[in-house]
Amino acid sequence: MKKNNCKYIFVVGGVISGVGKGITSSSIGLILKNRGLSVTAIKVDPYINIDAGTMNPTEHGEVFVLSDGDECDQDMGNYERFLDINLTRINYMTTGRVYQKVIERERNLEYKGKCVQVVPHIPFEIVNRIKKAGVNAKADVVMIEIGGTVGEYENILFLEAARMMKIENPKDIIFVMVSYLPTPSKIGEMKTKPTQHAVRTLNASGIQPDILIARGETSLDEKRKEKISFFCNMQPDRVISAPDVESIYDIPLNFEKENLSEKLCEILGATCRKPEPKVWDKWKNFAKHAHNGKEVVKIAMIGKYFETGDFVLSDSYLSVIEAIKYSAYMQNKKAVISWLNSTDFEKDKNKLKDLKNYDGIVVPGGFGSRGVEGIISCIKFARENKIPYFGLCYGMQLLVIEYARNVLGLKDANTREVNPDCKNIIIDVMESQKELLKNNLYGGSMRLGAYPAILKKGTIALNSYKTDKISERHRHRYEVNPFYITDLEKKGLVFSGTSPDGHLMEIAELPKSKHPFFLGTQFHPEFLARPLSPHPLFSAFIKACITKKK
Ligand code: GLN
Repeated sequence: MKKNNCKYIFVVGGVISGVGKGITSSSIGLILKNRGLSVTAIKVDPYINIDAGTMNPTEHGEVFVLSDGDECDQDMGNYERFLDINLTRINYMTTGRVYQKVIERERNLEYKGKCVQVVPHIPFEIVNRIKKAGVNAKADVVMIEIGGTVGEYENILFLEAARMMKIENPKDIIFVMVSYLPTPSKIGEMKTKPTQHAVRTLNASGIQPDILIARGETSLDEKRKEKISFFCNMQPDRVISAPDVESIYDIPLNFEKENLSEKLCEILGATCRKPEPKVWDKWKNFAKHAHNGKEVVKIAMIGKYFETGDFVLSDSYLSVIEAIKYSAYMQNKKAVISWLNSTDFEKDKNKLKDLKNYDGIVVPGGFGSRGVEGIISCIKFARENKIPYFGLCYGMQLLVIEYARNVLGLKDANTREVNPDCKNIIIDVMESQKELLKNNLYGGSMRLGAYPAILKKGTIALNSYKTDKISERHRHRYEVNPFYITDLEKKGLVFSGTSPDGHLMEIAELPKSKHPFFLGTQFHPEFLARPLSPHPLFSAFIKACITKKK
């Protein structure tokens, strides 16, 4: 692209939430990146929380952690995975964050005696942050996804900021609305009216969409395209059909079937090259694998953040699911993941034998005492029955506790998080965390973000990574208690990854001669798994699952 100003694409939602604004933003970013533009992305969450770190995953979905330690919305993970980039704190914005900054500025006399008001000072701060994200990333295009749906009180100030940017630089701003067209079963016809209302509501904020992504169970036919075009003041070719798909990785390909990147470049007046066939082919190939995996690997995920009312929510572990899938696709397999509630294993010990039906078991991150005993009995079962086991963060800490209890014979072994009064605290609170916890300073205060680790020779860890220096993202307050390390090692547990100073245990595993795959990481490898470069530890785990199946 000719070097001109940065372009900004706002993505807003109409009718209902949860119809894929995040995936739409990621996919638009990808098709533009594929045309030679450098793209970054911002997620706006209109809630008051400073970040997603203090929210229960069943409330908000997964807490995604960036390299710089920001605890943010799961959509940030989608952006990193689709665009294959690393984002930073400036790419994530909440109402709380914006107000906090404005108030801080006011206290610092930065407004030079002016009366500081919700309008214009809050939208001004939002605009500042959007522009800064573009500058920091040296981006040609910034995707900005505004959470929630239009008409909600909460996101009004963000829309106002977008409107202000449009007035300032009309040629550099595009509005994309992702709307939903229901097909009520009793009527059997796709209805455009809710979308018409949504566009009118957006119009009331002074904004006209340039592109409308028409989400629905099925494709949009010409008749409805024309109807939307007529009532929403848009050319029919700017209304893009976006039916439900089997795999989210088809969405960029579907957008290109409608020449979306060309249309966007045309509106922005950006000159971009034709899609790069090599890059595009790689994505196509990957997306194809998502359908083709012939054989299935059956993975049991044991956790507790699944249930919301009568529904099961897998969003809490989104990155883990994607990481498993990428490694399975790469090995021509399809991963089928079952959600097992850890508390069920506490109620009924007989359930444990059902684990034999799976090729592998994953215990993802978690907090608190609920379900912990159930998880520990599953880990014991996996160890004794040689079922591949992969523990992530809490899943690693509980692996070490299981080993201490059942191999070292320390029957009361536990983590301070669950039982601070037990004699053998195998997992203890980190020194740096003590003062924070005493003062109730919970927000953004865990050991967060990327830290380096060193790997030991002859281990599964080193064989998988193929390098002895790694960097992975963390989110925890507790660690393996150094007091027990020698005893655990004597009994065969290998700490194959440690912090460079050797104080912090980052990976625990059993040698391959004793178990096909029994490994846990103090960090969260799932945050670095990308579609075109699956994570080496997930790939090693899936490989072990496939071997077990045979
Ligand atoms: N609750 C554990 C800790 O704080 C593990 C955290 C996690 O799994 N992310 O250390």
